[in-house]
Amino acid sequence: MNLPTQATTLQASYFDGQVLKGTPVTVHSNSGQLVFFLGDTQHAIDLSSIKRSESFGNAPIVLELPGGATLEFERQTSLNTLKAWNVLSLSWFEKLQYHPTRWLLISLVSLAFAVGVYAQGLPVLSKWIAFATPQATVSALMEDVLPTLDGVIFQPSKLDEETKATHQQQLESLLQHSKDQAELAHVKLVFRSSKIGPNAFALPDGTIVLTDELLSALPAETIPGVLAHELGHVKLRHMTRRLLQNALVGTLIATFSGDVSILISSLGTQLIAQHYSREFEREADLFAIDLFVKQGRELATLELLHEKLGSLGKGESGETSYLDSHPGADERIELIRSRTLGASI
Ligand SMILES: [Zn+2]
Repeated sequence: MNLPTQATTLQASYFDGQVLKGTPVTVHSNSGQLVFFLGDTQHAIDLSSIKRSESFGNAPIVLELPGGATLEFERQTSLNTLKAWNVLSLSWFEKLQYHPTRWLLISLVSLAFAVGVYAQGLPVLSKWIAFATPQATVSALMEDVLPTLDGVIFQPSKLDEETKATHQQQLESLLQHSKDQAELAHVKLVFRSSKIGPNAFALPDGTIVLTDELLSALPAETIPGVLAHELGHVKLRHMTRRLLQNALVGTLIATFSGDVSILISSLGTQLIAQHYSREFEREADLFAIDLFVKQGRELATLELLHEKLGSLGKGESGETSYLDSHPGADERIELIRSRTLGASI
């Protein structure tokens, strides 16, 4: 097929592949060939024999000619004419560069991929790192967590020493004869008054925090259930894994530029973080149920615990209560009953 003759000419630099210096040439297209003169000699190169080097941004467009010579065109002034000559079709990457809507689309697809990686891969990675790191190292790294919280959400406990000693004994009896006793030897129990109402935490260094508000809101016999649940969080290194996930996703988000990406990915993070939280809660519940079953304790006290927790409203300040980060009472009691049935079969 003969291409129509183009009247337009383009300025280019010709490199013979031997010497560094280029020679300015005037190029035009004629009958499926690129035509230019070097001195008095006319060169006519078939378009089909021309190879194009990848180039990005504003770098010159480089055409590789047979025999190792090249022609370089200034991108701004030459791109449209070279396209009209059918010398080049844009690569998919370049098409994206020149189409902002497609660029946005690819950003969103990448983002969805990143969120997918986060949802599928990061928990696995976080779990691996959390368990591959010796507890002593985690504890050393995390020793500032409690002092930091003390300055923000915790105040000294108003409990008397006798009550504290009772709960300490409850913790020790949960650990006694447990197969996890050695693994959980680093667990410490501390008491605080909390600005965010009834709550219990298992910090990465193995410190379990019980708040005065939680202890006064629950019947005394349900506290071992709280402690068993928190021991589950410690054994399964939930807080460490959560921190690692957040750190890893923070790194991921930082690799994105543009407000839209950051907005959407932070939304995704929040949604998924909520999901993890419930998954971890369920694992901690299962740990507590198993510990109770093994020690011949009354599962009814776990049911009572969840009923009471379910009836706790918002904290006095109106901020998040214990309830918000945990599955609903019905769901948790259902879990206990299904586990009881399972155990009796
Ligand atoms: Zn929990």
